[in-house]
Amino acid sequence: MKNKNSISIKVKNRRDFIGDVAKGVGAAAMGACLNSNLLANVWTAQTAQKFGFIIHGGAGTLEKSKMTPELEQQYRAALTEALTAGYNIIVKDGSSLDAVETAIRILEDSLLFNAGKGAVFTAAGTNELDASIMDGSNLMAGAVGVLKHIKNPISLARLVMEKSPHVMMVGEGAETFAKQQGVRFVEQSYFRTEQRWNEYLEDKAADEKQRKQPPAKKAKAVSKEYVTLNDKHGTVGAAALDKKGNLAAGTSTGGLSYKRFGRIGDSPIIGAGTYANNNTCAISATGDGEYFIRVGVARDISALMEYGNKSVEEAAQIAIGKVGQLGGTGGVIGVDKNGNFVEFFNTDGMYRGRVGSDGKMIIEIYRS
Ligand code: ASP
Repeated sequence: MKNKNSISIKVKNRRDFIGDVAKGVGAAAMGACLNSNLLANVWTAQTAQKFGFIIHGGAGTLEKSKMTPELEQQYRAALTEALTAGYNIIVKDGSSLDAVETAIRILEDSLLFNAGKGAVFTAAGTNELDASIMDGSNLMAGAVGVLKHIKNPISLARLVMEKSPHVMMVGEGAETFAKQQGVRFVEQSYFRTEQRWNEYLEDKAADEKQRKQPPAKKAKAVSKEYVTLNDKHGTVGAAALDKKGNLAAGTSTGGLSYKRFGRIGDSPIIGAGTYANNNTCAISATGDGEYFIRVGVARDISALMEYGNKSVEEAAQIAIGKVGQLGGTGGVIGVDKNGNFVEFFNTDGMYRGRVGSDGKMIIEIYRS
């Protein structure tokens, strides 16, 4: 049964048709008498190869009552800019990896999302960023964590994948590597926005209040010490299927608000927050990272498809179901090898956008 929390859109497979037409073209071209109708068909067929591009800006959306029309407009504009940039790359025969990196950089540069500029603050009042990217064509992956001075963590994750023998680098080591690669550094103050700083002050006040509670109450509250999902999120991610059939996914985040002690969430963990495999799908997750790590959400979805014959939609529903059972919230976006999209979340909303081969862009924030 189709779950109303998710969508799945089929993109028509035209590969057979393209193959037939291509054979026809070869023969006709040799005779130098290509008729213009055939040419028109070939052009349409070749440019209409299936592809798909989908992005998210976090599953912790603002409560509807706090969302002003102006703010909603800003979110929609930022998502549209990122979606359009990725779409333009794919439509011009670019790679899914380039589309994913480019769109995520745009979302990192927007102060609306919890990634790059606008990242949430740690309990120490700093910003620490995590990101990952994966190439589904060869299962290569790159991930970075606890970055303090890198403007676009997603690009550093890609450099780890392409220019180092490693998959994951964190902290000072990752920044040393970044220096060697000529990556752009910024001061910590670059990431700060007033909204995030005010959230930090709220979290700090709540935490201090909790610490003053009598020991019995405090013991119960300890697992709630780390401030929660709704309206403090905005992790960003993208998943793409390009015209060559290559899948890629990426995710970038400032992590959980008021996180502590070098905490790393699911976003830079390959198989938890990000996964791509040309045989199955490309997935980017957002939510309470600890739960997504424990379930191994992104890889779980791919495995359910590979070994369990599930559709991307069914697989996402199962994996997010497991997160929910453990008490976690969040969701995923993704695209499968046939161009079917999935958006599945157990929160009130998720900033998201998608575009398929038909070029129709859809941006949504709350449940439709
Ligand atoms: N998953 C991210 C983390 O736990 C947070 C988010 O998606 O907003 O670090």
